[in-house]
Amino acid sequence: MTAGDTPPVAGPVEDLGGGLLSIDTLTGGMTRVTAGYLLDAPRPALVEVGPALSVGSVIAALRARGMGPDDLAYVVLSHVHLDHAGGAGDVAAAFPRATVVVSEVGARHLVDPERLNASSRRVYGPLMDTVYGACTPIAADRVLGVADGDVLDLGGGRRLDLLYTPGHAKHHIAAFEADLGALFVGDSVGVLMPGMTAIRPATPPPDFDLELAFATIDRYAALDPAAVYLAHYGAVPSPQPSLAEASDRLRLWAETAEAALAEHDELDHVAETLAVRFADEVTPDPSDPDRGRRVELLTAARSNAAGLVRYFQRRQAPGPG
Ligand SMILES: [Zn+2]
Repeated sequence: MTAGDTPPVAGPVEDLGGGLLSIDTLTGGMTRVTAGYLLDAPRPALVEVGPALSVGSVIAALRARGMGPDDLAYVVLSHVHLDHAGGAGDVAAAFPRATVVVSEVGARHLVDPERLNASSRRVYGPLMDTVYGACTPIAADRVLGVADGDVLDLGGGRRLDLLYTPGHAKHHIAAFEADLGALFVGDSVGVLMPGMTAIRPATPPPDFDLELAFATIDRYAALDPAAVYLAHYGAVPSPQPSLAEASDRLRLWAETAEAALAEHDELDHVAETLAVRFADEVTPDPSDPDRGRRVELLTAARSNAAGLVRYFQRRQAPGPG
């Protein structure tokens, strides 16, 4: 911090019951964009941290709860996109006993984030400097790369089961707390923020995969959780209808993109078609000017179009051999 900087505002905390709290990461200076979730236990776990530029708000919220530097055991990241994991290096520095848990497929990006930061800068452009910020490296012995079926023992009988759930990204994981029936799904179900009338799939480049995304949602439905916790944003109780809706909306977005691609093999055309087709998913509200901004920031039609176009092109391309 340089002279003149004010200390970060603690993100609003919501008690969700059963020792589970949400911490608003205040991503992009807005509420209800990216949630962190804190599971209270002898070895507490924080699921998602949000971008580096706003992570001071998460650290301040943990401190305000009386958590000292030794009191956080795990930082669980659904995947390494910067709106979820960008602040992980800063949280690891503030809580030096915490282990950072991430898919074994994505772990190396946190130890050496140079490529992650460079590709993020290409994707986010100027937002890299205003909303996200760069991920700082984390010592390899503090990063735990996990696979499907791995378990985190939080103590006191509380555990987190980790599931490998690719689709949104090939390194995506979910975490399940069976006693609460709480399933933390990152971006793999989609995005539902204030003023949105439907769950919007999150299908970004570079490695969105439609079949895997459907399989992941089906797997969640089979787990029959009591609630699904979206990173963007919040709890979805009794989520079976929402999981079915997430699949339906994903199919609709994919079909719309594929049809547009058949008309004109151009990203601009696909993005414009999706933007027009799904414009009514956000109800404007003059008292909440952030409604449109949240969606544009996280799941713009253009980003979804780019991921879907890339997926369809990859599928058409002749495989090796
Ligand atoms: Zn993501």
